[in-house]
Amino acid sequence: MKSASGIISQAIKDKRKSLLETEAKVICKEYGIPVTRFELAKNEDEAAQFSDAIGYPVVLKIVSPDIIHKSDIGGVMLNLREAKEARNAYKQILSNVKKHNAKARIVGILVEEMAPASTEVIVGSTKDPQFGPALMFGLGGVFVEVLKDVTFRIAPISEEEALEMIEGVRAYPLLKGYRGSPPADINAIVEILLATSRLVMEHTEIRELDLNPIVVYEKGAKTVDARMILE
Ligand code: ADP
Ligand code: MG
Repeated sequence: MKSASGIISQAIKDKRKSLLETEAKVICKEYGIPVTRFELAKNEDEAAQFSDAIGYPVVLKIVSPDIIHKSDIGGVMLNLREAKEARNAYKQILSNVKKHNAKARIVGILVEEMAPASTEVIVGSTKDPQFGPALMFGLGGVFVEVLKDVTFRIAPISEEEALEMIEGVRAYPLLKGYRGSPPADINAIVEILLATSRLVMEHTEIRELDLNPIVVYEKGAKTVDARMILE
């Protein structure tokens, strides 16, 4: 497996500002950030084979340096329940991508385990011109997008600060469990924040990072989409 430094220098050499989802997830894994299990399929047979190996349901996604927002162009297909569906999704995604941009370079199609639904959170990083990398935390969907219910800290953060970031959002009670829904694994989020802090401190070439969403369970969490933008 390629290391973070190798992946980042390759992208710089290729003059790519945005890492592929596969590259961003390999870097996450190296830093101990949990991600959905994935394989990169180069043809329909591989898509079926990897889907069988990962176990159903699976998700297929386009991997292309020319496509940043994958679902906007029909580049993501969820909840595929058998090999035949995975094969059809492979063809459908390629056709959707071609329709959108006939010149898009195709690296392959990501085959991923489908993370069961649960509470979604977001961990991000941006660079402050004065203080360097800053970390952001919030709950997924409307909490971040509409209510701007997020907390920030300058990196590096301590375990205590990670916990403060989580407890600092107004939606925090939702993570503690409500109306019979189970509590989320706060410690797993703390670990992800600390790992992200290490990552952005050690790789200052990363200008922006977006783990969105991270699905959090009673025990553990899984990053479903990861984006990293370089300087
Ligand atoms: P993009 O943000 O580029 O459109 P994503 O990878 O975020 O693409 O996929 C779009 C949405 O599909 C995600 O926000 C999530 O709701 C869902 N999704 C993607 N991958 C998975 C997965 N492995 N398991 C469960 N849901 C997923
Ligand atoms: Mg996404």
